[in-house]
Amino acid sequence: MNDFSIAIHGGAGTILRADLTPELEAAYKKGLADALASGYDILQKGGTAVDAVAAAVLSLEDCILFNAGKGSVFTKTGGHEMDAAIMDGASLAAGAVAGVHSVKNPVLLAKTIMEKSEHVMLSGEGALQFAKQQQLQLESEDYFFSQFRYDQWQLVKNESGTSLDHNIQVDKKFGTVGAVACDAKGNLAAATSTGGMTNKNFNRIGDSPVIGAGTYANNQTCAVSCTGHGELFLRAVAAYDVSCLMEYKGLDLQQAMELVTLDKLVKINGEGGMIGVDAKGNTAMIFNSEGMYRAMQNSKGEKEIAIYR
Ligand code: ASP
Repeated sequence: MNDFSIAIHGGAGTILRADLTPELEAAYKKGLADALASGYDILQKGGTAVDAVAAAVLSLEDCILFNAGKGSVFTKTGGHEMDAAIMDGASLAAGAVAGVHSVKNPVLLAKTIMEKSEHVMLSGEGALQFAKQQQLQLESEDYFFSQFRYDQWQLVKNESGTSLDHNIQVDKKFGTVGAVACDAKGNLAAATSTGGMTNKNFNRIGDSPVIGAGTYANNQTCAVSCTGHGELFLRAVAAYDVSCLMEYKGLDLQQAMELVTLDKLVKINGEGGMIGVDAKGNTAMIFNSEGMYRAMQNSKGEKEIAIYR
């Protein structure tokens, strides 16, 4: 039996100790702990890496503190457009959804696209139609509303740019979510889910649902889920670059993730971070921003839940 492990993130950005009250910090840690437990529990019972990352991301989507599912950020027009992806490192099967609204758990839609459609990526109204056909749970706009996100959007809605949700000056607290896992059979999987960037316009799509950019898994190398300024992660093809550095240059997981996150992304002002796991169950959580909501647990008995640098 292989060592098994899971790592999760709840977004990276300007997350400073001084900005979080002890109560909020405890709430974030609980959100991370619950998600970690739901994924780890599956691995411990002999479940698959794909099921573990889906369960962990679903738990984070259901937590209003994070920018995915319930609690997603507002678009320029005051709506929610969510992106998600999942990839199975054993078969290289992948499913992704971009710019969908009303779907309670976009990660389940991505998983259903992977398992039940002949496609990798669906978007917008068509993705919603497929979700309905597959009888996935839908919710009204009210479900996705959070006062905090609304207030955040009010501050920037008249500006032309977008903001990383955690970098909006008056508040820097929420984030995109993701999970990577290695199961007892040595199979890898990655999943990412996000509401994207606050005030995004023109059906903007970030890196999270793009296979190779924000999400990637391959049993030969690693599984990676990214968070940060999506445009730069797209341009860096960040997640696949980690895999390539391992496959073609022989770097280990930690070295490859450090090179991409702390060097290549920094050179193009790509603020953010990523979590990764390899087929031996080693995990890494690397970021170039002030903080990243993150957690990991493995069958060797190691466990960590952290926010700041
Ligand atoms: N990467 C996400 C995006 O650009 C945002 C985030 O990670 O918070 O849509």
